[in-house]
Amino acid sequence: MPSRFCSKSFSRTKADAPTSRPRARPFLRSREFWWQEGHTLHETAEEAIAETEQQLNCYADFYEKVLAIPVLRGRKTEKEKFAGADATYTVECMMKDHKALQGGTSHYFGDKFSRAYDVTFAGRDNRQQYPFQTSWGTTTRMIGAVIMAHGDNNGLVLPPQIAPIQIIVLPVAQHKPGVLEAAGALCERLQAAGLRVKMDDSDNSMGWKCAQYEMKGVPLRVEIGPRDIESGACVMVRRDNGEKTVVALEELEAKAKELLNAVHDGLFARAKQNLDEHTYEARSLEEAKALQTERGGFIKTMWCGELDCELAMKEKAGMSSRCIPFRQETLGETCACCGKSAKHMVIWGVAY
Ligand SMILES: [Zn+2]
Repeated sequence: MPSRFCSKSFSRTKADAPTSRPRARPFLRSREFWWQEGHTLHETAEEAIAETEQQLNCYADFYEKVLAIPVLRGRKTEKEKFAGADATYTVECMMKDHKALQGGTSHYFGDKFSRAYDVTFAGRDNRQQYPFQTSWGTTTRMIGAVIMAHGDNNGLVLPPQIAPIQIIVLPVAQHKPGVLEAAGALCERLQAAGLRVKMDDSDNSMGWKCAQYEMKGVPLRVEIGPRDIESGACVMVRRDNGEKTVVALEELEAKAKELLNAVHDGLFARAKQNLDEHTYEARSLEEAKALQTERGGFIKTMWCGELDCELAMKEKAGMSSRCIPFRQETLGETCACCGKSAKHMVIWGVAY
């Protein structure tokens, strides 16, 4: 791992203070991203819109079910949407420091680009028609999202489904007879059960090994020593909360899988709690600004839909609109910024 990352702490430090030059953030702001993206053309607008929604849900599901990061699904405002798109949908995540990270977007373009570039296809009636277009994408920023959503002061915390090593097996008092053999057999059983498992029988101390695999974010640690062997058990330790469980060896595979699922659920629950506890409602721009300054996070307000109010929120409260959530709530009748009739509920936040 690059040392540049190691110097980044998850707690607020002086380095987090705004400076004139933006600080490089590995995986988030760098010269190169790896993109995953798709572009599709459809016969009808309905089909294209359905594709746009399906891809957004695909990203949302990946964040939630694989990366254990809860997301908000919604539409971008006119100001924030992709240039030329009729509609941009987004999944927005909250990091541990309560800042927003855009997780992925999908766009519906209508037929304007196919008209502009004269892209046509022969329709069912054999006449030339303009197709309806979508595009969607996400990037290696996802890696940054995983680090910043789950990491703690001891290092990475990887969701089990993406962890290169899901389980690290550590023999305790490995110089004693039978320990290495027992640990090796245990390791092989877990591998045969389809899990990604490694054993560390190096000469490093137990404390060193534990700290090392904690830093690497390995979701589950399994310890086995002479006493465990005698009682036909081993000890499993979760990375996300440090919980220790004594597991009978006959239940080894089942319990390992159960605990890996529990780590995923635990990470998701903790991230969801962070999101819920740091999402606030505001009735006025002043209130939104005060909440952002004092607590940070996502602020929900009603909004008239006018650009001027969106710009005022940016200028006075330092927040951009993250999305108009698909799940709308009515917090009142009027725009928090101008007091005119409100059209939508918007989520505002400070974004990476
Ligand atoms: Zn307004």
